[in-house]
Amino acid sequence: MFAAPSDREALRFGEKSLTYAELHRAAGTLAERLRGHTRVAVWATSTLETCVSVVAGLLAGVAIVPLNPKIGERELEHILGDSQPDLVLRDEPIVFGTPGEFPDPGPETPALIIYTSGTTGPPKGVVLPRRALTSNIDSLAAAWQWTADDVLVHGLPLFHVHGLGIGILGVLRLGGSVRHVKFSPAAVGQELATGATMMFGVPTMYHRIAEAVEQDPALADQFRRARLLVSGSAALPASDHERIAKATGQGIVERYGMSETLMNVSVRFDGDRRPGAVGLPVDGVDVQVVDEQGRDVGIGAIGEIEVRGPNLFLEYLNRPDATEKAFRDGWFRTGDMAVRDPDGYLRIVGRRATDLIKSGGYKIGAGEIENALLEHPAVAEVAVTGEPDDDLGERIVAWVVPAGEAPEPSVLSDHVAKLLSPHKRPRVVRYLEALPRNEMGKVLKRELS
Ligand code: ATP
Ligand code: MG
Repeated sequence: MFAAPSDREALRFGEKSLTYAELHRAAGTLAERLRGHTRVAVWATSTLETCVSVVAGLLAGVAIVPLNPKIGERELEHILGDSQPDLVLRDEPIVFGTPGEFPDPGPETPALIIYTSGTTGPPKGVVLPRRALTSNIDSLAAAWQWTADDVLVHGLPLFHVHGLGIGILGVLRLGGSVRHVKFSPAAVGQELATGATMMFGVPTMYHRIAEAVEQDPALADQFRRARLLVSGSAALPASDHERIAKATGQGIVERYGMSETLMNVSVRFDGDRRPGAVGLPVDGVDVQVVDEQGRDVGIGAIGEIEVRGPNLFLEYLNRPDATEKAFRDGWFRTGDMAVRDPDGYLRIVGRRATDLIKSGGYKIGAGEIENALLEHPAVAEVAVTGEPDDDLGERIVAWVVPAGEAPEPSVLSDHVAKLLSPHKRPRVVRYLEALPRNEMGKVLKRELS
């Protein structure tokens, strides 16, 4: 599961760092204490200690439940009640003892129980076996030409699959280094200027990077040096992709994934970095785009993404009903909608529940309208939703954070009608100071009504 002990730096958090040799000793020492347990919760502060606790759990063969350190009382109660950990670790001091041997617990043993972001409802505990992690990291290594030579700048939380499952555990399997930063464009730029090679981020980070590199040519030069910038967890607006490419020469590699499946689809390192597209299925993962009956919708039509492969989770903890509903004929139904380009590249339209608007007999994806609105200079941020309408079934509503003075709503509606087509015109435009977002920067559309 992890690269062998060596003098290579594995993890650096501020002033503190550990080599692979030190990491094995520290995690092995804690793993001795975890032997015999089944499930251990880890208070996932952004610290070296959190990483050591997670590695210790994996060595000992226990399932780790990472907890958002800013979690509210109600959600904490929900997660602890649901997962029933034997033990909760919080900033466990690092001790270098003399650990013994740990037998491999086998590929189907639960490794992580990740609670979903709760974007569409109460968080569900996703039980990920060890083979989901190892197979997915190996597929991503192939897709991104990711090796032990890479140094990852890491500014993501440690309680989701993006930052923990792929960021930290990916690097530690492949034998490279993690440098953790409190995210800012300047902090990432500084690391890229001093040996870091890659960054994983969410779209809100890339939005800030787009603004910053346009204003600061020295920062743009630092980003120019990166080997690879990857975005995921939510749709990267095409406008941010283009702005960063123009200022730095870097085409961002977008990937699509979720807690239940890890990363399914990605643009490959040597592939076409097409704004608004997430690329092709990664090695070993089958993806299909289907209608409600499970039939392939073909090129250019909207359908639901279904996934099959060794990257899949085992079950939703304590929710056999939800687990059963999530599968059809062995395929996992993601609940996300996509369109396929002629060469197979996927474009994510959004979630079936909130981003697919049925208006006037058309099926319309919110993401396409959001991208069109972001091309208007008066729009800083936007989310598009559907609202019940007597005539149309649903009407398109644009929730807009204006870039300066808010224009007449018809200006934005006409912009969309002209750029896309008249039936995609927002019927209602509502201005807001900020969009409701979770800690991954995802817009909470259920709070927009
Ligand atoms: P919940 O399941 O609790 O509602 P969630 O789905 O946001 O929360 P995660 O598993 O963390 O929880 O996120 C996965 C979702 O994020 C995907 O199903 C998809 O909707 C979205 N997503 C991830 N990557 C991308 C991407 N590149 N483009 C668009 N959406 C993405
Ligand atoms: Mg989900």
